[in-house]
Amino acid sequence: MRPARALIDLQALRHNYRLARELTGAKALAVVKADAYGHGAVRCALALETAADGFAVACIEEALELRAAGIKAPVLLLEGFFEASELALIAEHDLWCVVHSLWQLEAIEKTAVHQPLTLWLKMDTGMHRVGIHPKDYHDAYQRLLASGKVSRIVLMSHFARADELDAEATAQQVAVFEAARQGLAAECSLRNSPAVLGWPTIKSDWVRPGIMLYGASPFEVEQAAASRLQPVMTLQSRIISVRELPAGEPVGYGATFISQRPTRVGVVAMGYADGYPRHAPTGTPIVVAGKRTQLIGRVSMDMLCVDLTEVPEATVGSPVELWGKQVLASDVAMQAGTIAYQIFCNLKRVPRDYIGE
Ligand SMILES: *Cc1c(COP(=O)(O)O)cnc(C)c1O
Repeated sequence: MRPARALIDLQALRHNYRLARELTGAKALAVVKADAYGHGAVRCALALETAADGFAVACIEEALELRAAGIKAPVLLLEGFFEASELALIAEHDLWCVVHSLWQLEAIEKTAVHQPLTLWLKMDTGMHRVGIHPKDYHDAYQRLLASGKVSRIVLMSHFARADELDAEATAQQVAVFEAARQGLAAECSLRNSPAVLGWPTIKSDWVRPGIMLYGASPFEVEQAAASRLQPVMTLQSRIISVRELPAGEPVGYGATFISQRPTRVGVVAMGYADGYPRHAPTGTPIVVAGKRTQLIGRVSMDMLCVDLTEVPEATVGSPVELWGKQVLASDVAMQAGTIAYQIFCNLKRVPRDYIGE
């Protein structure tokens, strides 16, 4: 059997969820969109269900997958509905729904729903992606209430730059939010992972941690709260071949690596078809037999090469960690010019094994 595996530590997932709660004293929706950032939405949600105040997903397809698995906790649709026809299912399955645009508000006004909805009314406080304009926000709130189709409204917004700990933008977004929500007596939700970890004074009755649940820091710099996270996914495989090359020999497609000294090269069963980033360059850290070494040459579809010159004990069958508790996914991501969010979401073909149930 091919040894490429993603080991998912559900104990670490629960630890990270509890940390989000502990840091904020708020209720927390565990964000499990995009198959829980590649970690498996159903398994992650089941592991969190007794602890979690609820879950957040991108769309109704993802929510119905959780309901089909027996998850009864609240599930919020972060983009609401894409077509008005989804509203019947939203009511039937008791899903919570973001309203981010006026067309959605109009659709709710026009549609007959049989159960009153829990809606999260999103304000555009500066990210300028989705959300109701601050000047229209009171009016939108009143229209939802007047529609008679709503049992509860939570006020929400989303930060564009909370991962930049010294940027003014986050405080400015909070100020826009606070000014525009004046007089609306409702709960609010502002904080995503970087704001949970790095912006302790922002008031948010509900928080929406995503990446931090999976143990990756949203920051590029060291940060005290983020250092308490535990990585959930370990991407691992084994050495399947070893060869000795003299100096001056190329390795892999395009001969982008040429040995500068006699080099012991190991081949790992892992490639970009598994989601390992093809753009990870020579020098990207990899752990072989418990020792840190580096990727060499181009990543291929099913294999990649590592330098074993300083790991003489490594042989065919030696265990390899591509990322996990020893090599952080964020470090691999940074080398490849991307972020941990994306390398987690890109995971494919690799079977997932779960521990810490
Ligand atoms: C994805 C998402 C989150 C979670 O973001 P993280 O940075 O992963 O914590 C929170 N809120 C909204 C609206 C989202 O789309």
